Amino acid sequence: MIIAVDGPTASGKGTIAKALAAHFGLPHLDTGLLYRAVGRQVILSGGNPDDQADALAACAFPDALLSDPELRSEASGGLASRVSVHPAVRAALYQRQRAFATQPGGAVLDGRDIGTMIAPDAEVKLFVTASVAARAQRRFLEMQGQGRDVSLDEIAADLAQRDERDCTRKEAPLRPAEDAVLLDTSDLPRDKAIATAIAMVNAKGQS
Ligand code: C5P
Repeated sequence: MIIAVDGPTASGKGTIAKALAAHFGLPHLDTGLLYRAVGRQVILSGGNPDDQADALAACAFPDALLSDPELRSEASGGLASRVSVHPAVRAALYQRQRAFATQPGGAVLDGRDIGTMIAPDAEVKLFVTASVAARAQRRFLEMQGQGRDVSLDEIAADLAQRDERDCTRKEAPLRPAEDAVLLDTSDLPRDKAIATAIAMVNAKGQS
């Protein structure tokens, strides 16, 4: 079974994808991490993330980069969003994601275009959303918990800017697949959101 989990930044899709993978005993790929690694590699190589050739060259990042904690930063998220607009970058990362999705036994992948581009054949597609206010508040608490000095307004502005870039880009814009089930986590505590997602997968499996 392939489970595609798409949605905007800080919607809870990563947490939900990880929990679904554990519950159903499937391997999980956080595809955002690949784009983050490309963004980080461009900077490490002294390139320009807005230049398609520089970003494409960075797709050959070493696998060890995927464990760099810096990839989890807001700065890396912003860079990922910039390199991800280039069609050549999306094409270069396609095969790796497709191979993961189609491995024997199935997989859970989370990202922006899993249900629409990477695995349009997925048995289950969830589109996880939440209001900008709810997502900014979550990110704020998470970053405060890490002892970082952040402003809620700045986080909300950054999220809105990334949403805008992800939703309006020409190549694989962020949008729910036609057959995706929507899960709005704005008012759901983490455990409830996970339980709802598991129930949605089970319901799809029976239909
Ligand atoms: O999910 P995450 O916040 O780690 O993704 C970082 C950025 O990578 C997103 O804002 C998006 O621009 C890009 N991305 C993408 N397609 C994916 C996963 C992430 O374009 N499948």
